[in-house]
Amino acid sequence: RRAHYAALKDRPPITRDGVEITLLHNSGLVADLPMLEDTGAAGVGLFRTELQFMIASRLPRLQEQVDLYSEAMRLAGDRPIVFRLLDIGGDKVVPYLRSMAEENPAMGYRSIRLGLDRPGLLRTQVRALLLAARGRPLKILVPMVTETFEFQQTKLVIRRELERLKRSGEPLPVQLELGAMVEVPSLLFELDQLLPEADFVSIGSNDLVQFLTAADRANPRVSTSYDPIALPRLRAIKLVVDAARRYNVPITMCGELAGRPIEALALMSIGMTRLSMGPASIGPIKELILNLDLEPIKRSVAAAMSDGSEGVPIRHLLKDWVDRQN
Ligand code: PEP
Ligand code: MG
Repeated sequence: RRAHYAALKDRPPITRDGVEITLLHNSGLVADLPMLEDTGAAGVGLFRTELQFMIASRLPRLQEQVDLYSEAMRLAGDRPIVFRLLDIGGDKVVPYLRSMAEENPAMGYRSIRLGLDRPGLLRTQVRALLLAARGRPLKILVPMVTETFEFQQTKLVIRRELERLKRSGEPLPVQLELGAMVEVPSLLFELDQLLPEADFVSIGSNDLVQFLTAADRANPRVSTSYDPIALPRLRAIKLVVDAARRYNVPITMCGELAGRPIEALALMSIGMTRLSMGPASIGPIKELILNLDLEPIKRSVAAAMSDGSEGVPIRHLLKDWVDRQN
């Protein structure tokens, strides 16, 4: 299978009926960036910067962060790479940073909440990213945004750092794009405020589904109990896809859903064309795309999603199609 997928690496991921899909890596380790060459992916849709913090025994210093981001950008070459600001807390434990026990860490003091509360930490990371991106474009993604206000606050911190570096004569990124993760359900009902503020958005399906279903993603007793592409969840995702299109804001799915065939099919059928996934999923998903006539599937899914439908589970509908391919 590996050789088979390797042979597809230079084929652009376009469906048989001409829909262009962008396939990207989820990453967090510099060591897996050279895999971009093997998979032929278009870039890195999600670089999880907290990994450097999780494997260290103390806070990585400014220069250590600069070095990691520079190396990541060097290895990505001309391909875009989206750096997500520290998403610490919840399932991502950084022992030397946690000060209090929490009953519900996934819903606790974490991610951009922590970043805005400890601006020193956030400023240092932002400075490291800006310094590393000298002369290159830079994309920064803000995790766990609950209210548009937090995104605006984070943008302010970034802009201030940029001004500071400009004054001190440092070489700056040639372009700066700031995006928000949509993974907290409340944000679904504030898209008209969020989208005009964002250069791009990314859906984090792992957290979005966990919070929509109130089912802990890390607890195997419940984490697979609710189908992430059942109607209520797919409708939530479609709400974001449709709104992003209205505001002409690029949208990527960067949760693990995008790397699974039936789920990827569901996402494409509601108009998601940018999929970010673990590198090992690129080959199988690309093969699926190359064999796909998307239009009829879009129609069936739209019918199944409409209010007057018979309630055919989307998964069954799509599984039939995938089985027929194999
Ligand atoms: C997500 O929540 O889907 C996501 C992409 O981020 P993480 O898995 O790192 O929380
Ligand atoms: Mg998340």
